[in-house]
Amino acid sequence: SLTGKLQDIFKKLRGKGKLSEKDVKEAMKEVKIALLEADVNFKVVKEFINTVTEKSLGQEVMESLTPAQHVIKIVNDELTALMGSKESKINFSDKPPTIIMMVGLQGSGKTTTSGKLANYLKSKGKNPVLVACDIYRPAAIKQLQVVGSSINVPVFSMGDKTTPVDIAKGAVDFAKNNNYNVVIIDTAGRLHIDEELMDELKNIKDAVNPNEILLVVDAMTGQDVVNVAESFNEKLDIDGVILTKLDGDTRGGAALSVKAVTHKPIKFIASGEKLTDIEVFHPDRMASRILGMGDVLSLIEKAQSQIDEKKALELQKKILEQQFSFDDFLEQLQGLKNMGPIDQLFSMIPGVNMSKLKGVNVSDKAIKRIEAIIQSMTKEERQNPSIINGSRKKRIAAGSGTSIQQVNSLIKQFEQTRKMMKQFTDLGKNMKIGKRRM
Ligand code: GDP
Ligand code: MG
Repeated sequence: SLTGKLQDIFKKLRGKGKLSEKDVKEAMKEVKIALLEADVNFKVVKEFINTVTEKSLGQEVMESLTPAQHVIKIVNDELTALMGSKESKINFSDKPPTIIMMVGLQGSGKTTTSGKLANYLKSKGKNPVLVACDIYRPAAIKQLQVVGSSINVPVFSMGDKTTPVDIAKGAVDFAKNNNYNVVIIDTAGRLHIDEELMDELKNIKDAVNPNEILLVVDAMTGQDVVNVAESFNEKLDIDGVILTKLDGDTRGGAALSVKAVTHKPIKFIASGEKLTDIEVFHPDRMASRILGMGDVLSLIEKAQSQIDEKKALELQKKILEQQFSFDDFLEQLQGLKNMGPIDQLFSMIPGVNMSKLKGVNVSDKAIKRIEAIIQSMTKEERQNPSIINGSRKKRIAAGSGTSIQQVNSLIKQFEQTRKMMKQFTDLGKNMKIGKRRM
């Protein structure tokens, strides 16, 4: 399996300690083969391998990670990104009913998944109705009725003598008149994509203007999944994909290719024949499932949070010992942009009002200017700002393309920050002050 192969590759890598460029490239060659064997689309594989190789060689390895863990982390992050990064929800209409149209090849699981989706939405407080638009397959209507009655969801049907377009329109009216707020249309499939099927689906789409067109794809479909997804998407401009039969011996390629090729997200996955076997698709969970390295990944996560914690502690020590320098100041300002350790540090101290700190102007432009000024200081000046006299200020201003006033104002800001930090830390030391307002 893909997971087994990836595990073997990384096991070899982990045995190595320090990784050379050759090691990484060799491992990536094996990852590439494993992905291709799992039926991931070759274009997707090529791009994926390029990105991972580039990042693996281009980034500094975090202190507390081994090089192999570092590569695993990058592979995991990129797998997640490939599948869409975060989960995608159903778009509910402001004006009910929300119309969901299920499309896909015959046997992909449309009818079963329509029932699962109805059941899922019912559990979320919706009031769905199922619609039988497959009038071609013998017993298709009956199948949907069985599904509906087992989950207590009504099935709208007009037999097989009316066109699917009229059935769909009739169902929307029925929902409006009877206060059903979700309409799930189960459509017909073919064994292969054909024009007639596509035209019929397009006609239903044009007639009822669905909020969601969901393509149901059997995860066991190999390389063909890309063609299927592309054809349906071209004709219908689908909104998302539901992957079914993930409980089977799937090679996993479908999940990895679909989003990359169609740019449409996987919204749900189904892994079983029971009507409760459906769940929201989480790209990060799927990535770690494919990697099969939950333990390594949680270790990596922990290492990351320890790094942040270590940074915060180092900073706290510096402040206590009054060694907070312009270098730290610069680093913290840059950190503020992405909620760096300074926030965590201050939020640990009772009574600190973070909004006061934000008085420091941290727009990108301001940070660039501050950066320029600090970079024009000598090492001594950064560590010990009190030596910055008039002539030094003049030199710094000229060197950074700023004015003496701007240099002055930065030094003032720095001294204030330093004083404020000292106060906060003293406060932190004397916890008895408790919730006193700052
Ligand atoms: P449709 O032709 O697209 O409507 O497909 P159906 O809903 O009739 O499903 C075809 C077959 O696949 C049925 O036997 C289902 O029980 C089965 N099936 C659907 N979804 C799943 C799933 O997630 N896992 C498994 N194991 N079987 C499924
Ligand atoms: Mg069906």
